[in-house]
Amino acid sequence: MTTAPAIAIDGPAASGKSTVAKRIAQELGFTFINTGAMYRAVTWYCLQQGIDPNDSNAVTAALPNIPLSFGRDGAMSCVLCEGRILGRELSETATNNNVSAIAAIPEVRELLVNRQRQYNETEAVVMEGRDIGTVVFPNSPYKYFVTASEEVRTARRAAEGINDSIAERDRKDSSRACAPLTQAADALLVDSSDMSIDEVVALIVADIHSKSN
Ligand code: C5P
Repeated sequence: MTTAPAIAIDGPAASGKSTVAKRIAQELGFTFINTGAMYRAVTWYCLQQGIDPNDSNAVTAALPNIPLSFGRDGAMSCVLCEGRILGRELSETATNNNVSAIAAIPEVRELLVNRQRQYNETEAVVMEGRDIGTVVFPNSPYKYFVTASEEVRTARRAAEGINDSIAERDRKDSSRACAPLTQAADALLVDSSDMSIDEVVALIVADIHSKSN
């Protein structure tokens, strides 16, 4: 058992939570863990292998042999395939379009959630995703649900030049049976629609300090 803190940051797609989580991790000197990249890596690999992401039996059967590993690159998590750090392939359109199907498979989630918890066995983490406050670290006192209006989120993705059907992903992520995207009852809701990144980071860091004193 660890006593290292785990800061849980959840929210819908393109809510700004990755940027915010990374900055908070830098400020606190904690490791930043991007769990979306883990689900994206499994998705990318299945697509590479011609495994249908909607065929949960085929995906589950492939899991024991998937040559992915989850490590760290400096102060951040990273995903490796046969020793190579994955990057751009994780935000390819095909990955975007299929990741919610992969993430709905309970066996995939079990595998990845176990790995996510392992990071916190040895170090303090800022972890962002969809179920960090509800499933991965339900006992953490540090839970934040970062959101923004759909217009703002769509505009943010478009500005990044990324083709991403965020409304569709949110619908699938929120309606799945296993660990759906939802705000933990004890999470602080942060609507970033009219806030700068600096303001969101400052608000969350102040809350963390108030709880750790
Ligand atoms: O955070 P990001 O947008 O990269 O996540 C990609 C997808 O991975 C989400 O749309 C969701 O389907 C899945 N995901 C999840 N649980 C997490 C993190 C991501 O289901 N903790």
